[in-house]
Amino acid sequence: MFDRNTGEKRLYGINASPGISIGKAYIVDKEGVDVVEKYLIREKQLKKEVNRFKSAVKKAKDELNAIIEDTPEDLRRHATILETQRALLKDKMIYGKTIEIIENEHVNADWALKKAVSRVKSMFQKLPDSYLRERAADIGYASDRILRNLVGAKQVNIGEIYKRVILVANDLSPAETSQIQLEKIKAFVTNQGSKASHTAIVARTLEIPAVLGLEDATSVIQNDDVIVVDGSTGMVVIHPGEETLIDFAERKIRYNDQKAALTRRSHFPAETSDGIRLQVMGNIELPEEVVSVLAHGGDGIGLYRTEFQYLSRTDFPSEDELFDKYMDVVEVMAPKPVTIRTLDINGDKAISNTSGSDEPNPALGLRGIRYCLTKPEVFITQLRAILRAAAFGNVRIMFPMISTLDEILEAKKVFNETADSLNKEGISFNKDIDIGIMIEVPSAVVMADLMAKEVDFFSIGTNDLIQYSLAIDRENSKVANLFQPLNPAIIRMVKHVTDVARDNNVKIFMCGEMAGYPIHMPILLGMGINELSMNPQSIPAVKTMIRSLSFEDSKLFIKDVLKKTSAKDILDLLQDSYGDILPDKYITG
Ligand code: PEP
Ligand code: MG
Repeated sequence: MFDRNTGEKRLYGINASPGISIGKAYIVDKEGVDVVEKYLIREKQLKKEVNRFKSAVKKAKDELNAIIEDTPEDLRRHATILETQRALLKDKMIYGKTIEIIENEHVNADWALKKAVSRVKSMFQKLPDSYLRERAADIGYASDRILRNLVGAKQVNIGEIYKRVILVANDLSPAETSQIQLEKIKAFVTNQGSKASHTAIVARTLEIPAVLGLEDATSVIQNDDVIVVDGSTGMVVIHPGEETLIDFAERKIRYNDQKAALTRRSHFPAETSDGIRLQVMGNIELPEEVVSVLAHGGDGIGLYRTEFQYLSRTDFPSEDELFDKYMDVVEVMAPKPVTIRTLDINGDKAISNTSGSDEPNPALGLRGIRYCLTKPEVFITQLRAILRAAAFGNVRIMFPMISTLDEILEAKKVFNETADSLNKEGISFNKDIDIGIMIEVPSAVVMADLMAKEVDFFSIGTNDLIQYSLAIDRENSKVANLFQPLNPAIIRMVKHVTDVARDNNVKIFMCGEMAGYPIHMPILLGMGINELSMNPQSIPAVKTMIRSLSFEDSKLFIKDVLKKTSAKDILDLLQDSYGDILPDKYITG
């Protein structure tokens, strides 16, 4: 949006990491390796062409080795990602297929590589889960590296940025992010990306504001343009006028002050004015994120999404490898609880060494517990690692995507058999841990009374519960306005599950995004939810909000909420009743 009076231009993207930055743009424009020409190779030259490809792969591997070695300790997360990229260089579907295409179709290596990669990438991109789809990017980064070596292109050296800038890029690979001296980066702005992309994860963890998914930022913004990045609302202002600069400079001061005040108090317990204590926990995807949960005053890990260890690799992780990843979290958090959720992927397609069946609608397909129950070897390996890690701290296990009672019975049977075999083998483990399920499918809400007899806790996954109850694809921006946690249907479901849990002495948690917004607290508290788990950065504001509420008042408030007929009416009621005690919305994004 261009404003004739001020000369300002505003761009709107994804608010991937909150906060405000004002500074000069530094455009990272990768030298184009996107345009690849096709030409034919004569029979006699084929061997040479294959060797040219092999040496480009070798160079790419050497480069990655050097970057991995140089990765500082505090950025170890990148090293894991880079290791998976290094493994991808020799993946059958890329390496083997490229050589096959060169030999069979008599074409140049660059063209063959592009062809092989586009097939694999499109397989990943069809996955409904944004996190899994992001793994397609890893394949892209690995193959771009080979391609650069094939065509002899130079990579822009972002390691040499010497002044504090706002980085504007098409997309940033983990390899690139790990080369950047992050203290030089005031904010990230990218054309591509989503809340689950690497840049978003890095930005949030390092608390650098980020606006992603702007599509044409690198062409609209010029080097050295002064820009404002508002990562809380997802807005970028190019050539801000004086008034805008003053406005954002003030907002930035307010944001920093409020955030500092909240973080200072984040280690106080989340206890209401009438003495009810809630547990406020963090959601993590990678072991390294425990640091952020602790720094923000988290009482434990309410959701450890374990999918990451299975992605972008050519084999399944071994029991020992998984055990190490769980131990990294369990030992650091002990005696605080760590809730390990068993694998929640959408079918074989997520794992690069299996060809996978093309499911017409993967969100309704072989996902989560359904996948694990059809792949006992994968499930048992994970259960063994969890049971072993449980001997070293406070572990709970949680099964995702439960839609029938039989799935719980079956999962528990495998769990018990796995414990028995560890016992027979004389390996130390602990099976005396809480077992819970995600309530994220409408049938589980309806069956909650029967399911309660089988488990120690319920954790409401509102991201999927909203998707499946309101028939809204959680990734589809066209229906994003209908993705409403405060929809009366969702409120009634949460109330029902909470009542059933209380009547059956089952602990009741929430780990979907709904739990991370301070404005929702009067409802979640009033319903009697015991524990909330969220993005670590949201913990301080949520705790602050809880401390300013009374449980008894919130219980009464629920009666008014249940009379409302739309999400908007419920939000208005919340704002009217509690809006003024909320921390600034900039804090929570
Ligand atoms: C959910 O569905 O609410 C949830 C927490 O799980 P995920 O976002 O990993 O599907
Ligand atoms: Mg879910």
